[in-house]
Amino acid sequence: MVKIAVIPGDGIGKEVMTEALKVLEYLQRDDSSLQIDTTIFPWSSDYYVQHGRMMPKDALTILKSYDAILFGAIGDARVPDDVTVWEFIMPIRKQFQQYVNFRPVKSLKGVASPLTNGKDIDMVIFRENTEGEYSNSGGHIYQHQPQEMAIQNTIMTRLGVEKIVQAACSYASQYGKSKITSATKSNAIIHAMKFWDEHTKNIVAQATPTLTLESIYIDALVAYFVERPQDFQVVVASNLFGDILSDLGSAIVGGLGLSPSANVNPEKEFPSMFEPVHGSAPDIAGKGIANPIAQIWSLALLLGHIGRPDAEKRVVRAIEAVLQEGAVKTADIGGQATTSQMGDAICQALVNKKHTARGV
Ligand code: ATP
Repeated sequence: MVKIAVIPGDGIGKEVMTEALKVLEYLQRDDSSLQIDTTIFPWSSDYYVQHGRMMPKDALTILKSYDAILFGAIGDARVPDDVTVWEFIMPIRKQFQQYVNFRPVKSLKGVASPLTNGKDIDMVIFRENTEGEYSNSGGHIYQHQPQEMAIQNTIMTRLGVEKIVQAACSYASQYGKSKITSATKSNAIIHAMKFWDEHTKNIVAQATPTLTLESIYIDALVAYFVERPQDFQVVVASNLFGDILSDLGSAIVGGLGLSPSANVNPEKEFPSMFEPVHGSAPDIAGKGIANPIAQIWSLALLLGHIGRPDAEKRVVRAIEAVLQEGAVKTADIGGQATTSQMGDAICQALVNKKHTARGV
């Protein structure tokens, strides 16, 4: 029995998680080999308001006994953003050494994108997830005085750079990709980014001989993502650059409501965490109109991670079938369906596609 910890979190996180769990229930109903047990944890901003902390002191010990974590979103006007991030997401990513943030960016039939030019976009972004620019090293001194100052350090370790680039290379060779694109800015960030470039080059050189590396300055790379997104296959980036590139990646294939992500500990020493790229979307929370696809796709990535690529493919095909048919669309992709109607349509497509999707 695989044990999954489910943390819906805040805002639309709760709404889209209901749909992902519905999909899981459908899958399990007609596939008895999918033995998954879920436990829902209420850790969120509501929990913070009641208990003065985002999650209990022993939360990581509790989570460690699970095989994977399915997470919704966190963010609420009652709690400062740095608290929700640094007391919740960062401890999980860092303590569980989820150093790979894996974000697929794929154009989907039935979803309009102004940038596809008739060609398919199909890339993955490997974002370093545990160090880099998102570090709590630094300080803020002389508050409210003229000499007030803040220092924020970027932490790059050789091991950290090597591990994320290795993960990108393994993916490239497993899926027959010929090129790795590295996001850099070593002309201006001369210590950390030169270090990034040097170790990236070494690791790619040690990988498959047919794999080529292109290093592109981040300012040019964002422009290329818009001008010729079809040219990218596997993109590897530091924490900050990867974060920005993956939101841009979501936008060019149809929006945040469609984009899943995985925070992976490849060694499987700790549980990995699967979550949509989007946040709690306070502007639409409570209205029942959020697109649940990013959350359901994140569930699919989780299924692949726990050794059920067949179930992963089945869910992704059901999503693609609903989008391609186009009868059920949420507002973000030009329709009027509710969150729950989109979830139901995907469940229905799962049942319809059952026989064709098996065994792939
Ligand atoms: P947070 O502070 O939690 O990060 P945010 O509003 O800054 O929230 P997102 O939640 O990522 O950031 O939302 C950005 C925009 O994308 C919002 O306008 C939101 O409504 C929209 N959006 C995000 N997720 C979805 C979704 N699943 N379906 C529809 N629209 C979405």
